[in-house]
Amino acid sequence: MTTKYSIVVPVFNEEQVIYDSYKRLKAVMDRTYESYELLFVNDGSRDRTSEILNYISEGDTHVKVIEFSRNFGHQIAITAGMDYAMGQAIVVIDADLQDPPELILQMIGKWKEGFEVVYGKRMERKGESFFKKKTAALFYRILRVSTDIDIPLDTGDFRLIDRRVCDEMKRIPEKNRFIRGLVSWVGFKQTAVEYVRDQRLAGETKYPLKKMLKLSIDGLTSFSYKPLKLATYGGALLSFTGFVYMIIALGMKLFTSSTVPGWTSLIVIQLLFSGFTLFILGVIGEYIGRIYDETKDRPLYIIKETKGFGAAKRVRSLSSVKHG
Ligand code: UDP
Ligand code: MG
Repeated sequence: MTTKYSIVVPVFNEEQVIYDSYKRLKAVMDRTYESYELLFVNDGSRDRTSEILNYISEGDTHVKVIEFSRNFGHQIAITAGMDYAMGQAIVVIDADLQDPPELILQMIGKWKEGFEVVYGKRMERKGESFFKKKTAALFYRILRVSTDIDIPLDTGDFRLIDRRVCDEMKRIPEKNRFIRGLVSWVGFKQTAVEYVRDQRLAGETKYPLKKMLKLSIDGLTSFSYKPLKLATYGGALLSFTGFVYMIIALGMKLFTSSTVPGWTSLIVIQLLFSGFTLFILGVIGEYIGRIYDETKDRPLYIIKETKGFGAAKRVRSLSSVKHG
């Protein structure tokens, strides 16, 4: 029997919400009267998530669970979900019910009209800090001007993709993945459905500042060379300024007698130039680190165990999914 829909849910320490989100997803998917699977990817949770998923999968044949050996990160969890999804359409949704599952029906409607990618566009974000909203909005706009790929503003990973798009995504071996960008990169017919992002059902964000920064640098570096060009343009500007200042300084030395006081200008130049140099070194380092990750070519994730796959698991053995 073929599966029509796969719902991929990355989960990390979501013991407080996972059961409710399972129930709501199930209620929504039952309304399609078509076949579906709920594929939870447990990204190395350290709380009771695994136990609860176990319990859920034992009572419902729609449910499949992939357990990572440790925390590999949200984007990697989504990747694993896509690798193992069997559906004709694959929907990625967060576990915390910030993205309303009911919207999936609308996405399916668009898919049936012939769209291969239907992404959720956030019109408003509730219950998130001022800082998070502002930095996220800023990031999407920086990304937009930095890259030639048309990555839609204010969209997360909540989206439906067609089997064909999913298969193309599986051919991308990239290690530091920015999935929402990759989906745009793949192309095909894409459209949006708009929604208001709710607040988290319970618990705290699993995206602390550090992970947010990592994700945004991944997004920027994997879709743009512009940060590298900062060295060229910034360096040129600073050299030009330096040159002008050199003329002034020489003029003062040759034609006036007021050359001794100069501590302020020296320290300012010193700070400005060394700050700029270190910053650019850092930018280059971000790219080199990512090149290093690619050359090491480690597998993207390690699966500890799977549940609910039954016979399908044997057909599609763990080693059959290889990136790179
Ligand atoms: N998540 C994950 N691995 C991580 C961090 C988060 O699988 O290392 C999952 C998390 O359980 C949730 C989704 O990714 O289902 C989005 O995380 P969260 O809701 O905390 O992010 P936010 O909505 O605050 O940006
Ligand atoms: Mg969330």
